[in-house]
Amino acid sequence: MRYNNYHKHTHYSNISTPDSIAKVEDYAKRAIELGHTSLATTEHGYAGNIFEYYDVAKQYNLKFVFGIEYYYVENRFEKDRSNSHLMILAKNKNGMKQMLRIMSEANKTGYYHKPRIDKELLFTLSPSDVVVTSTCVISYINKHDDYEETFVKPILNYFGDNFYLEIHDNTHPMQVEYNKKILELHNKYNIPFIHATDSHYIYEEDDKYRTIFLNGKNIYYPEEEGFILDYPDSDTIFKRYEKQGVFTREQVESSLKNTLIIDDFEDIAMDKDIKMPTLYPELSHEEKVKKLKKIITDSWIEDRKHIPQERYKEYLDAIRFETSIIEETEMEDYFLLNYEVIKKAVNDYQGVLTRTGRGSAPSFYVNKLLGFTEIDRLESPVTLFPTRFMSKSRILESKSLPDIDFNTSEPKPFLKATLDILGKDNAYYMTAYGTMQQSSAFRNLCRAKGFEMNEYNDIAKDLDKYKNHEKWGSIIEESKRFVGVIDSVSPHPCAICLLDKPISEEIGVIKVGDELCAVIDSTTSDSWKFLKNDYLSVTVWQIIADTYEMLDKKIDNIRELNTLIESDQKVWNLYSKGLTATLNQTGTDNAIHQVTQYSPKSVRELSGFVAAIRPSFESMKQIFLNREEFSYGIPEFDKILETSDNFVLYQESIMATLVYAGFEEDETYSLLKAIAKKKQGIIEPIRDRFINGFIEKTGSKENAEKVWKIIEDAVDYGFNSSHSLSVAYDSVYGAYLKANYPLEYYSVVLNIYEDDTDKTEQIYHELEHFGINVIPPEFGKAQSKYSFDRSSNTIVKGLKSIKYMNDNTANDLFELSKNKKYDDFVELLQDITENTSLNSRQITILIRLNFFNMFGNSKYLFNIYEKFSERFKKSHKDKTKLARLEEIREYVAELTQLDDFSINEKVLFEKQMLGYTYTIDDKYSKSFAVVTDINTKFSPLIDLYIINNGKDVQFKMSKNIFFDENKKAILQAGDLIKIKKMEQKPRQQLVNGKWVKTDIMQNWLTSWELINKLED
Ligand SMILES: [Zn+2]
Ligand SMILES: [Zn+2]
Repeated sequence: MRYNNYHKHTHYSNISTPDSIAKVEDYAKRAIELGHTSLATTEHGYAGNIFEYYDVAKQYNLKFVFGIEYYYVENRFEKDRSNSHLMILAKNKNGMKQMLRIMSEANKTGYYHKPRIDKELLFTLSPSDVVVTSTCVISYINKHDDYEETFVKPILNYFGDNFYLEIHDNTHPMQVEYNKKILELHNKYNIPFIHATDSHYIYEEDDKYRTIFLNGKNIYYPEEEGFILDYPDSDTIFKRYEKQGVFTREQVESSLKNTLIIDDFEDIAMDKDIKMPTLYPELSHEEKVKKLKKIITDSWIEDRKHIPQERYKEYLDAIRFETSIIEETEMEDYFLLNYEVIKKAVNDYQGVLTRTGRGSAPSFYVNKLLGFTEIDRLESPVTLFPTRFMSKSRILESKSLPDIDFNTSEPKPFLKATLDILGKDNAYYMTAYGTMQQSSAFRNLCRAKGFEMNEYNDIAKDLDKYKNHEKWGSIIEESKRFVGVIDSVSPHPCAICLLDKPISEEIGVIKVGDELCAVIDSTTSDSWKFLKNDYLSVTVWQIIADTYEMLDKKIDNIRELNTLIESDQKVWNLYSKGLTATLNQTGTDNAIHQVTQYSPKSVRELSGFVAAIRPSFESMKQIFLNREEFSYGIPEFDKILETSDNFVLYQESIMATLVYAGFEEDETYSLLKAIAKKKQGIIEPIRDRFINGFIEKTGSKENAEKVWKIIEDAVDYGFNSSHSLSVAYDSVYGAYLKANYPLEYYSVVLNIYEDDTDKTEQIYHELEHFGINVIPPEFGKAQSKYSFDRSSNTIVKGLKSIKYMNDNTANDLFELSKNKKYDDFVELLQDITENTSLNSRQITILIRLNFFNMFGNSKYLFNIYEKFSERFKKSHKDKTKLARLEEIREYVAELTQLDDFSINEKVLFEKQMLGYTYTIDDKYSKSFAVVTDINTKFSPLIDLYIINNGKDVQFKMSKNIFFDENKKAILQAGDLIKIKKMEQKPRQQLVNGKWVKTDIMQNWLTSWELINKLED
């Protein structure tokens, strides 16, 4: 007997509680196997990925059924965690929309640990558009005593024939008891039965894998033991009911038959047409294009003021060409919408949009006129093709949407503007599902099997190596079952879904963390043609924006920047000297090394550099970086490659070569992709056309074939020139600011990277070049953030950048210093204790970092504070307080002479608290050093801090002088030593298990003297 399995769960249910490893397609396959005809979406609390369900249903020729097993409480505004399960199915598209709406509302206003609908929301559903069932054992009926009056009767009254008593065939005693209750209700109210499986997996034996998945996550559901949650055939169902002994055969039969109501549900249709939101629903395509053209023209009239008149025609041709692409692909709404969004974000909410771009967007001049970029492709030092961004053939054939990724210093203003313009239910972050990858699936299985982490951890890092291992091989194989299972969810970091209909009803909204997200992921959105805007938060633009703000200057536009950097040797010196920490693309150790080697002198060269250091260009990289003469020896080809120094650095270089051989620009990007796929039958005609075209231009068959071969090899490593030019400009903005306004620039980056000790150290090393000193924080001077003093060319360290400090501690102390002049440290301690949020750990750290040095050395103050904290208590009565303060002062009076902490104690403490050291003492000669770190993984590697000049150096040591005869380390972090002898030896590298010498030299410490051992 056929039935419809409408109550089921897949791994999409895991986003609220881990529950299932079954995928949507598993159910479709089982449905086909049993001759069933529908596929339902019912997950816990939400509808899952309805787009995937729909696709799978169509693929298997099943009816798509929309349903949700809601969490239900009486009143969603109350802190009620009873969360009864409540199954509702949509009979038609209307029902689906209403259900999505209350699901979204449950997430917006009914969220308390779970998204909960309540009576109020339930009775907004139109009774003829949905079917409601009493659901599983976690029904309201099983959770509350007053279920007849407050649940069954009102629902029956409201939903009438569309209310069913759901029965399950489970033989668990809890289910059997519950079914008896349901039978009573049936007899009393004559409500029909409906059978449900509540499937969490397909076959009975799959239960094991669900349990493993849950146990691996340390989750156990003891109350579910004995429940069978599979997807059975009807014979099995009859047998199980018989075993239960609650219902008659007729009753069971009718409950199965009643699932066939689904056969009469409307076949809900969903389409993959482009869902471009429009701001002007009342205007026709022609009118909208006219509107867009007007904006473009106005902007052109402004922009041409900076363009020589003799080039106007060239620009107008460009504008006409690009506008025609927009017009013919009917994409005007995209540009009209984003024009308004960007304008509002920038003008009303002080949003900072990159002046450059990301990807191919800057290669469209119209994008400049609309304010999406400031790069002018017609002035670009590298070749840019508008069709790389958008071409008629690509948009019309693949129905893809234009896609500009907006780099911002901070995305909030852009989201805010989008909501203002489109409506507040019309834009949400997308949902990003996290799935188990091979390695996490393996770890999960190992945990479930009870292995210790140290047993499997190393195996998990290299599964390929162990796939045939006698012990691990089978476990790796078994773990594959869990790959791709959803086990987490988060808001997408930057993708926003935009729609001109209410998203709450069309897609649904769920709460993920603190963010309300549209229930659609970015890949699904692409294939279903929803509009996605990416608002990315980019640190380099945060740095640029903050520095200009500190300078109280408007951010220079790209034309202005070009003029500023043209003859500014300081800017380019930063690259040749490797002073590029925090500059885009050139700030990592590896990039610094390469950028000094190449030493770019212009944006064009820097752009080439960015493209050349990609791994795919590896084979040619050294020739490029060393600026060796390079040419393929084909004059026509060299001419095309002129802007990239004869290298095929960019995809655009290849596109230009194709255009040269007679291809239409519009098709060249698609051809590039086709060539890259190297598919037989497709590539040959392209090749023939190319060879013929090239011969026609040059007359040389030999060269034509040579160039084709080069192109074929280069398609894989060509890089998008528009992107590379953009990031080059991003880098140069930073370089310009750093070279000309170092105090401001460094204050900004030190604040941005205040929690990143590695970066901070890297930045500190550069300051010397600019003669900038960083003053350690001092009481009365330091604020929460780094600040600078121009007259002394110093930066005052921000208090917040110190471990355990925060804005409050910093502000409280700064406030105190402004309110009163302190001569007496005890008085200050009293005020700090009574009037600020500082705790004793924070006070101790500040004392030890010399923060209060105006009152004496840190050892002296440390002793005072010990006495103070022992005798003085905030809670003391005023009278005893005074007496105790007197006692502390007497103690202080006797404490006048006291040696400070030793130099090595100071150095180590600073290193631990700040990540670097600032104590310098030239009383010590350059051979005195403090050990700050030791790594003994191979032959010991020690970090030394030279007290005389504040430099950090690293030495290797041989084991026989590092360890004593009992294998105990002689040195430890914090020891003060005198360097007596050092040597340089080639560095060794482990190759295939053998140590091999390399060309790189390394310092070895061969003789030293221990001056002062740090006391434990
Ligand atoms: Zn349930
Ligand atoms: Zn369920």
